[in-house]
Order: sequence, then C-alpha cells, then structure tokens
Amino acid sequence: MVIQDLHTHTNYSDGRCTPAQVAALSYQAGLQTIAISDHSYGSIMLGVSEDAFVKLKTEIDNLNAQYEGRMRIMLGVEANLLGNGKCDIPKTITPEVVLLAYHRSVLPKNRFATKALFQALSKRYDIKRNTDELIRTMCENPVNILAHPNEYIRIDIKRLAYAAAKENVFIEINNKHLSLTADDLKTCADCGARFIISSDAHHLHDIGNFERSVAVAREADVLPLVINWRE
Ligand SMILES: [Zn+2]
Ligand SMILES: [Zn+2]
Repeated sequence: MVIQDLHTHTNYSDGRCTPAQVAALSYQAGLQTIAISDHSYGSIMLGVSEDAFVKLKTEIDNLNAQYEGRMRIMLGVEANLLGNGKCDIPKTITPEVVLLAYHRSVLPKNRFATKALFQALSKRYDIKRNTDELIRTMCENPVNILAHPNEYIRIDIKRLAYAAAKENVFIEINNKHLSLTADDLKTCADCGARFIISSDAHHLHDIGNFERSVAVAREADVLPLVINWRE
C-alpha cells in the first residue's frame, strides 16, 4: 500500500478542497504522511502567492497539532521552471518538500517560458533543450521530486533518470497525469532511479487514489523501488 502522499492540492491553488478536508480524507485513507504541494506563484491565476504560503503554513501547523501522533502534514510546493536554472520556490517559508515540473500555466514573460508554452500547445518538442533545463534546474535548487515527467512537455526520460539517481531526486509516478509507461519506468530503474507514487489530488474523490500508478509500477516490476510503498 501507499503510505505517504506528497503531492496534493488545496483551494489555495486549483484544488477544490480546504487543507483540513485534504487532511481528513487522507487520514481516512490510511496515509501516515501527506504534503500539501500547491502550485507556486509562477502559475498564472492559480499559483499561491508568497504571502499566501505563510497563511497556508499556519493552517498546516494547526492541522499538525490536531493530528499529532496519527498523521504528519508537510508543507510542500509544486514549483515551475522559470528558465536559466531558476524555479519559483517561495522564499517567505521553507517548504519541506519541493516538486518540480513543466506546466502550461506559466506566464510567457521570457524566451524560455514562451518557447515552453509554444511546445506545449504545438506538441513540437525540443527534447534536448527541455531535458537540459530540467536537469539544470533540479541540480541548482533543493528539489526532491520530479513531478509527472513527460507531461505537457517532452523530455529524454533516460537522461533525466540518470541525473535524478545521481542527485537523489525521486521520479514521480503520478496517478492523475500518468506520464510514464511501464517501459519508461523500467528504463528509469535501469538508470538507478527511485520512484514515488502521488495522487496529485485536486478533488475530494482523488484523495488516497493511487490505482493507476500502482498498476503501472506493478507492470514494470518496480514497486520495490517506490519509496512510499509497503507490501
Ligand atoms: Zn503538475
Ligand atoms: Zn500537482
């Protein structure tokens, strides 16, 4: 079973649930640890501002007092790549978990973001450049998890997996965006990478649902390499 879910969203970004609802349903689902990892401020309209992260942290502190000894709630962030090795990890708080991913929601205010958005929309990908930038950003920031690699923007999964293994960063098997095939997971495993399964829940009914991720991990025979899986 999956014992931790480090990728959930709340109504601070584009999730539909409050942090208290995410905590309650995750607890009911038997999770020991969760992270609320909302989209950071680089996402247009839906990103959490630096000030709102402070408010979210207070809510999470209160929830931790409420669930003490039963479940731990971490403050995470789903950061966007901003180009030149930069990403939008907030500075007003220190997130306990940092996820990094390409998204379509980043304001195209520089050449990098414009090109990324163009690729996501046209589906014509500059795989080498995308992979170089993702690896660089992962290496230059305190990233823990590569969220849904290959979603929105294509990357070279083999090169990424080698780099992730070297940097001790986990490759996510995302239940909402099942971006990697069983063959991709086998390739990552051959490169020495380890995995984490996440719900990426945005709605009540997604919380605690890892069915698709578990199925593909089982098909690829990589469940022993999934850090939040226990038999
Ligand atoms: Zn995402
Ligand atoms: Zn997400």
